[in-house]
Amino acid sequence: MVLLWVLLPPVPEWARTVLDASLLTLVSAPILWRVIIRPLRLLAATERGRAEAVLAAAADGIIITDEKGLIESFNPAAERLFGYPAHEVLGYNVNLLIPSPHKEAHDGYIAKYLHSGERRGVCLRREVIGQRQDGTLVALELSVSDSRSGDRCLFTAIARDIAERKHTEEVLRESEERYRMLAENNYDLVCQIDVAGRYLWVNNNYTTMLGYQPDELLGRNALEFINPDDLPAVLAEAQKPVARWEYRFRHRDGSWHWMESVGKPYRSAVGQDAAVIISRDVSERKRTEDVLRSSEEHFRSLVENTRDLIVILNRDGTPRYHSPSIERVLGYKPDELNAQNTFEWVHPDDRAKVVDLFARGIQTPGTTASVEYRFRHKDGSWRVLEAIGTNLIDHPVVAGVVFNSRDITERRQMEAELEQAKEAAEAATRAKSEFLANMSHEIRTPLNGVIGMTELALDTPLSPEQREYLEMAKSSADTLMTVINDILDFSKIEAGKLDLEQVGFGLRAYLGRTLKMLAVRAQQKGLGLGCQVALGVPDDLVGDPGRLGQIVFNLVGNAIKFTERGEIAVRVEEEGRTDTAVCLHFTVSDTGVGIPADKQGVIFKAFEQGDGSMARRYGGTGLGLAICSNLVRLMGGRLWVESEAGRGSAFHFTASFGVQPAAARAPAAAVCGLPPATRQRTRPLHVLLAEDNVVNQRLVSRLLEKRGHTVTVAGNGREALALSEQISFDLVLMDVQMPEMDGCEATAAIRRREQSDDRQSEIRNRAACPLLP
Ligand code: ADP
Repeated sequence: MVLLWVLLPPVPEWARTVLDASLLTLVSAPILWRVIIRPLRLLAATERGRAEAVLAAAADGIIITDEKGLIESFNPAAERLFGYPAHEVLGYNVNLLIPSPHKEAHDGYIAKYLHSGERRGVCLRREVIGQRQDGTLVALELSVSDSRSGDRCLFTAIARDIAERKHTEEVLRESEERYRMLAENNYDLVCQIDVAGRYLWVNNNYTTMLGYQPDELLGRNALEFINPDDLPAVLAEAQKPVARWEYRFRHRDGSWHWMESVGKPYRSAVGQDAAVIISRDVSERKRTEDVLRSSEEHFRSLVENTRDLIVILNRDGTPRYHSPSIERVLGYKPDELNAQNTFEWVHPDDRAKVVDLFARGIQTPGTTASVEYRFRHKDGSWRVLEAIGTNLIDHPVVAGVVFNSRDITERRQMEAELEQAKEAAEAATRAKSEFLANMSHEIRTPLNGVIGMTELALDTPLSPEQREYLEMAKSSADTLMTVINDILDFSKIEAGKLDLEQVGFGLRAYLGRTLKMLAVRAQQKGLGLGCQVALGVPDDLVGDPGRLGQIVFNLVGNAIKFTERGEIAVRVEEEGRTDTAVCLHFTVSDTGVGIPADKQGVIFKAFEQGDGSMARRYGGTGLGLAICSNLVRLMGGRLWVESEAGRGSAFHFTASFGVQPAAARAPAAAVCGLPPATRQRTRPLHVLLAEDNVVNQRLVSRLLEKRGHTVTVAGNGREALALSEQISFDLVLMDVQMPEMDGCEATAAIRRREQSDDRQSEIRNRAACPLLP
């Protein structure tokens, strides 16, 4: 039988079974040949041809091995797949086509298969790695099926190159992984929704950013979470192929978060319509935008409502921007001036100044300069603008020169009016001062007449009654004179016209003389009056002794006035000293009525008195202390009071004086007193009296005549000049204000004539001095 099968070509299984059964019964060889073998051989040849054609045409590699794995058939596709020609592999073990690490596994497979004893003709499919003749590897899908050929077992393996499929699968897997990573790990919220808007999938950010667990969203409609106010816009946008939304999404905690989303519909592999929506939480940006917008609105409203005009000029002076306030300030609409060169509207007199400033400013970015100029209003009037220009040419946004201008026309007008008013007020003050000076002159002249005449009358024999009347008249006139002197001083101080003298004087002697004048009054009231100058206080001072005397006279006078019992003490101490100056501290204390604490501040103000009833009782104008404190201030010191009602007062003042250097000290009489010549009254003089007031003419003549002098009277300067030409006088007493020619003019004319006549020696010792009332 073995022989038979060797002779026979391979025959199908069913034919063998038939043959095995027939061989035992059919014995006749010729019959066997004719009836069975020959037809079978023909049939087998046809089958083989078909099988070979199939093997040759197959796209997959087909390898047939025996049960030991030795290759029996290797089709052309297998040749292409593995690079071996068939004749080089036939008879070799199939593990030739398998790389070493997999060889054993492959052998194990066959062994396992054979030992399992199963012969199932089952097709086993697995993926393996093959090795080509050139050593390169190839991924294969291997389908192996077994078949029997007699008692032999054959394995038919179909090998398919799956490298490309593998690659595609890998690429897909990678891509899917990448997208999954992207969807999961970014700052955006990514979701898939179905056509009805229900969530199909959400990424983690819905949890981390909006607080929802996926199962709280999946299956629910996304629209439920959107702010109802934003829904109409969201739905309208959803119609577009690619939708972009901005809306508020409800956080799980109930707060609204601004979202910016992009949505794109797609059709899934299984043909389902869905959409991917990628959203970003832009709440922070929205907040920043809101802050920016409100800040921008704030500044815009500031710029638009400012009274100032803000203009940005280009490098060439053309305006690029005008704030809307231009209409308020200059009457133009914002774009009305835009095309013009701004400088053309500047007043011709100011133009050069403004252009020059602009030209200089433009050179140096960052500089600021201010200028005042006139600009033409739309109504044709000129407005005065005060501008600050800042060169912001280098600024990336502004890129120009910014002018901030303010209309100061009204302010300038007001200033001009104020200046006029001030000048008018000053003129009025000057007029008032002059009036006061004139008035006091006019009042003092007749008052001097009254006092002088009263004194003359008192020198004549009088009845006691007449004397009493005249003395009262003189006392009243003296009081009136004091009041007038105070008013004149005060008006001079107010007008800033009171200047202090700087002459040398002896402190102690001067104080003594001043106090002597008051001693009688103190004595009359039974008050003690003492003066103490501390040791070491310098005596030879430089200052205004008259004004110092006035202060002391006033304070001691007040002390006497307001003291009924006790004493008045004057004390002088040194407060400080330098080489050339000394500051002295004067105290005038009394044991009088004192001043209540609440009045101590006001008594130094003009026209203020401590107590109305006292003032009526003691008289006075309320000007004395005001004048004193001003005089003390002019002397570089201050005046203050320490007092207690009912226990007396102490008035203090400080004042600075120059100290005379030892060499410059001269006898006090030489400085303060009259020249020695006038003191020698041994020789009667012929005096020319130039005075227009008849009472004064009479009074002075009488006084001089009483002392044995001869007096010639001239009614004005011109008469005096004429008389002095005819007669040689020993002394000229010249009034200042006189009709026709005043005293100064007349004196100057006399001096000129003296020089031209060379008569100087003749009248060298005669003084022509104005006689002031
Ligand atoms: P008057 O001319 O009224 O005295 P003064 O300016 O000299 O003006 O003084 C103002 C007021 O200060 C006085 O009216 C008085 O009330 C108060 N006064 C000044 N000196 C004294 C003093 N020695 N004792 C008490 N009161 C005084």
